Amino acid sequence: MPEAKKFDVAVIGGGIVGCATAMALVQRHALSLVVLEAEPKLAAHQTGNNSGVVHSGLYYKPGSLKATNCVQGREALYAFCAEWGIANDRCGKVVVATSPAEVPRLDELERRGRANGLADIKRLRPEEIREHEPHCAGIDGLWVPYTGIVDFVGVTETYARIVQDNGGEVRTGARVRRFARDGAVFVLETDAGTVRCRALVNCAGLQSDRVARLCGVRPGLQIVPFRGEYYEIVPARRHLVRNLIYPVPGPEFPFLGVHFTRMVKGGVEAGPNAVLQRQEVALRDAWSGLTAVAPSRAARGLEASGRTRITPRR
Ligand SMILES: Cc1cc2nc3c(=O)[nH]c(=O)nc-3n(C[C@H](O)[C@H](O)[C@H](O)COP(=O)(O)OP(=O)(O)OC[C@H]3O[C@@H](n4cnc5c(N)ncnc54)[C@H](O)[C@@H]3O)c2cc1C
Repeated sequence: MPEAKKFDVAVIGGGIVGCATAMALVQRHALSLVVLEAEPKLAAHQTGNNSGVVHSGLYYKPGSLKATNCVQGREALYAFCAEWGIANDRCGKVVVATSPAEVPRLDELERRGRANGLADIKRLRPEEIREHEPHCAGIDGLWVPYTGIVDFVGVTETYARIVQDNGGEVRTGARVRRFARDGAVFVLETDAGTVRCRALVNCAGLQSDRVARLCGVRPGLQIVPFRGEYYEIVPARRHLVRNLIYPVPGPEFPFLGVHFTRMVKGGVEAGPNAVLQRQEVALRDAWSGLTAVAPSRAARGLEASGRTRITPRR
C-alpha cells in the first residue's frame, strides 16, 4: 500500500454537491484537495438518477433561503451549461390541476412564483394547456417558462474536471471505511488507500448521517432512505409528452408528485414514486437505538404516499 498522501481538504462524496463544493474550494483558495467517491464513477446515486429538471423556484416560501438559492442557482446552472457546452433545454413546464380542490393550491403556487420573481408564469385555461401539451387534460393550469432539463451527470463531471484542472484530485472507488485522528490530522481509510487531511467535508448524500457518525460527529438526525422509481414511456408513445407535465403537489406529501419528464438525452419518464428501503431503515433503527425521531413511523407514512401515486413495474 502506498504511503498516505496528505491534503488540506478531503471531500467525501462525488455527487453534484461534493463536486460543486470541491470546485468552489479550489477556485477560491490555494489548497490541496481530494474528492473521495465510493463508486467506480461520479454521480452514481441521486445525482445521476433523478428527474434531470432545472427547477424554477416556484414552490418555495418567498424570502426563504431555498427560494433565493433555487432562483439564483437556476440561472447560474443555465449559464454554467452554456459556458461548458453541457446539454440542457429551458423548455418550460405545465402544472396541471385536475380537480376543483387543486385550484386554490394552484393559486398559491402562482402567488409564490410571482413573489419569487417568476414574472412570466402564466395561468392556463384548459384549451391553453393543450397548446403546450396537446395530450394533457386539466381544468386549470400554470405555465412556467423558467423550468428546464439538464444533464446533471455532465454538470458533475465538468465540476470534477475543473477541480482537477485546479490541482485537486478526484478518486473513485474510494469508499471511506474508517476514520481516526493523528493529532490535528484526520486519517481516512478508503478502498483506494489511506488519506490524511486537515479538514473534512461530508457530502455523502443519503449516507451523510452515517459518514458523520463514522467520523465521530453526532449529527442529531437520521436520514430515512427512500428510493424513487420511474417508468420509461415506450418509444411509440413518447409523443404524448412534449416537455414537462407536473401535478399540483399534495400539501400532505413532501414530494412534487409524479410527473412526466422529457430527458435531455432522449426518452420520457414518468415518476418518481417513493419506496422505503425497509431493510436499511430496520438496520438503522436497530443501530441508533431510541432516537428523538421515529424514523420507521415517519417512513411508513411517506411510503404510503408514494404507493398511492404510482406502482412500479418490477
Ligand atoms: C427521485 C429523485 C428525483 C429528483 N429530481 C431532481 C430534479 O429533477 N432536479 C433537481 O434539481 N434535484 C432533484 N432531486 C434532488 C437531487 O438529485 C439531489 O439533491 C442531489 O443529487 C444530491 O446530490 P448529492 O451529491 O448530495 O448526493 P448523491 O448524488 O447521492 O451523492 C452522494 C455521493 O456520496 C457517495 N458516498 C456515500 N458514502 C460514501 C463514503 N463512505 N465514502 C465515499 N463516498 C461516499 C455516494 O456514492 C454518492 O455518489 C431528486 C432527488 C430524488 C431522490
